[in-house]
Amino acid sequence: MRVLLTEFRQESNSFSPVTSDLRYWRANGWTLTPAELYPKHTSGFTALGGMITVLEQSAGPDLEMVFGPGFYAQSGGPVTPEVVEEYLTQLTSALDEAGSLDAVLVSFHGALQSTVSDDVESDILRKVRDRVGPNCLVGVSTDLHGFITPTLIEQVDVLCGYQTYPHVDVVETGSRAATLVLSLYRGAPLYSAYAAIPMMVPAAAYTTGVGPFGDLISHAHALVADGTLEDFSVYQIQPWLDVERPNSAVVVYSKSPEHAEAAAAELATRLYAMRHDLEADLHSVEEIAARAASSESSKPVILVDSADSSNAGAPGDSATVLGVLAGSFPDLRAATIIVDSPAVEAAFAAGVGATQTFTLGGTIDPRAVPVTVEGRVRSLHDGGFDVEGQGSAGKHIELGRAAVLRVGHVDVLVCHTISGNGDPQLYRAFGIDQKMYDLVVVKANTSFRAGYEPFAGEIYLADTPGAAASDIRNLPFTKSHLHAFPWVDRADFAPEVVLHKLGG
Ligand SMILES: [Zn+2]
Repeated sequence: MRVLLTEFRQESNSFSPVTSDLRYWRANGWTLTPAELYPKHTSGFTALGGMITVLEQSAGPDLEMVFGPGFYAQSGGPVTPEVVEEYLTQLTSALDEAGSLDAVLVSFHGALQSTVSDDVESDILRKVRDRVGPNCLVGVSTDLHGFITPTLIEQVDVLCGYQTYPHVDVVETGSRAATLVLSLYRGAPLYSAYAAIPMMVPAAAYTTGVGPFGDLISHAHALVADGTLEDFSVYQIQPWLDVERPNSAVVVYSKSPEHAEAAAAELATRLYAMRHDLEADLHSVEEIAARAASSESSKPVILVDSADSSNAGAPGDSATVLGVLAGSFPDLRAATIIVDSPAVEAAFAAGVGATQTFTLGGTIDPRAVPVTVEGRVRSLHDGGFDVEGQGSAGKHIELGRAAVLRVGHVDVLVCHTISGNGDPQLYRAFGIDQKMYDLVVVKANTSFRAGYEPFAGEIYLADTPGAAASDIRNLPFTKSHLHAFPWVDRADFAPEVVLHKLGG
């Protein structure tokens, strides 16, 4: 069995002021040549790593793995065509060199937009399909927040999205895709069923652990456990994607066409039916800070500033919350984080213990309002830390140089970039122990819950401005709003299921 593996992974945010060019990908991710791909993914916590493990353990002695390029970048604004071209050039030469292939396995995010295309993954898969022909199996793994179009589903045999949010099954998702591809290769016929759902809901408003979305995922797991389905993915489209026809989606695999069709219709109907329950419950920063000030609990209140989450493609440079805390809650012990390269360098120039005026925030997003404060440099750091979170424990992250500034009773971690937003070590590794504060700002949507819930007090979603704002109706959509919930509400929605026979 001859398999080519490759990766091209970024989540786009149409409202980010930072276009994702090659420099951005290299500074905030990686662009690996085929020769570099295998060592990277056998030592990491990636979907591609999961695919490789399954192949090596189960494909048998005739397995031959060849590699394409591996491109990854943290969420950001739409990608530039030069990045797509660079990837495609390397991919097509790897495909040409590989000759005849039994399977191609690809790791995507699923919501990649370029400055010229809303559906980059479909564009790439079409080129792959043209080269490998209709008999080569194409298996893809994605995030749960993929924009899975009808065009994309036509290009693939197997598509598996994360089944957890917070995402703690990244490696397992790659394993599922490789396992299904292997079983198709061995001749077991399968049916896929796909349904598109015209809805877009804020990513901070649900998890797969609780609530109606959690119930839906549990139900889908039960369908796999009792043999009705072989696999399922329920997609909630990344909500900061401004595209022509946005859709969430359901993709299922079953040995029975009837079961596949019925399950896809049921899951899609149930997902659309919960649309109003998935709207974010937002609170003003003032209200959350007042609750923290009057809280009797020893546990910190978590203020979720998801609008500025770099996990969701925002730059992380908002000082909105700091402005309110410094201005109106001088006695509240709080911790926050702001991307601000000039402030980091000013802190290094001033040295530990120095007090001076800092203007924080708004260094990247022209819409973000800077805040001028007196700050004392508490500590300076090289910016490296190891995450503790489930699914990627021990992964090393570099933020570039970083500093902690004390502003009144607020500790502000300033850095060049934010990554690992939801991981407790993003603060702890820099001397900020969340348990010592009344209020902690987390710039993430849901990823933080896995690590924070064990020690967090009340958790509030803040109504803050930013490229990943939860109130998506207030964002400047020019396309998405024409077709999908929350702008278009269709009480009569009935899913159209597309069934495909695979293999056999
Ligand atoms: Zn996601």
